[in-house]
Amino acid sequence: MAVNEIVRMYEDLNRALKKPVEKRSWVMVIDVRRCVGDHACAVSCMAENVCPPGTSYRWVFETEYQNYPKLDRFFMPANCQHCDNPPCLKAANRHKRGAITKRPDGIVVFDYEKLSRSSSAMDAAKKACPYYAIVDDRGDYYTENTPKLEPYETRTFFEYDRKLNRKKTKGTIRKCHFCLHRLESGMIPACVSTCIGRAMYFGDLNDPRSLVSELIRKEKTLRLKEAEGTKPRVYYIGFKDRANISISTPATCQVCHQ
Ligand code: SF4
Ligand code: SF4
Repeated sequence: MAVNEIVRMYEDLNRALKKPVEKRSWVMVIDVRRCVGDHACAVSCMAENVCPPGTSYRWVFETEYQNYPKLDRFFMPANCQHCDNPPCLKAANRHKRGAITKRPDGIVVFDYEKLSRSSSAMDAAKKACPYYAIVDDRGDYYTENTPKLEPYETRTFFEYDRKLNRKKTKGTIRKCHFCLHRLESGMIPACVSTCIGRAMYFGDLNDPRSLVSELIRKEKTLRLKEAEGTKPRVYYIGFKDRANISISTPATCQVCHQ
């Protein structure tokens, strides 16, 4: 991605913010040809959202297909897919009404207060999500058992338009929120702005002039586990030469061993 693509995404974002929220449709596009697997996006996400030890809203999976000498290896970053038909929402809300909601711009919202009061809603959401996108905040700190907790762990941060700190997220489940606080301040998500390989794109699918709309129109796209009917809002591109690969979101050790 050239620098002017970043400028273009900022212009797209500013155009979208001039519209009412229900006219926006946020999507993420990931070009697997460009991802170099350095995990900078995941690190910037952890810092932005003050994630607890062992958790990340974002994984960079390493995927292989074919055998030597044709072996091909590439990277697939993934986060909450902000499904338009979200299984987490249906499952959690059976136990706690309104615990998970969907904004008109597509962002799937976790209500931390409601969720933390219902362990059955949290368990149901985690079990229902086919993308391993949900993590537990058990209240651990990287700097516990040191003379004092470091300010980077105790600072305030913003998710879903709420001002939070780790005391308020302890005991709940968390996930990517498309950096809603940054979007509403006219900034692209932290992972997109940090991406070393310039593999990440973000914008408004309702705007035919936006870069994401153009990419989705021009490229062959793939969405993870589409057959499950979840309607994900994360589109992968760059699979042209990997037509026969059967993609499923693989688990890494960390997914189960948080
Ligand atoms: S990816 Fe998982 S957590 Fe995100 S909206 Fe879909 S089902 Fe819910
Ligand atoms: S920062 Fe970009 S290139 Fe690096 S792992 Fe994340 S998506 Fe891939």
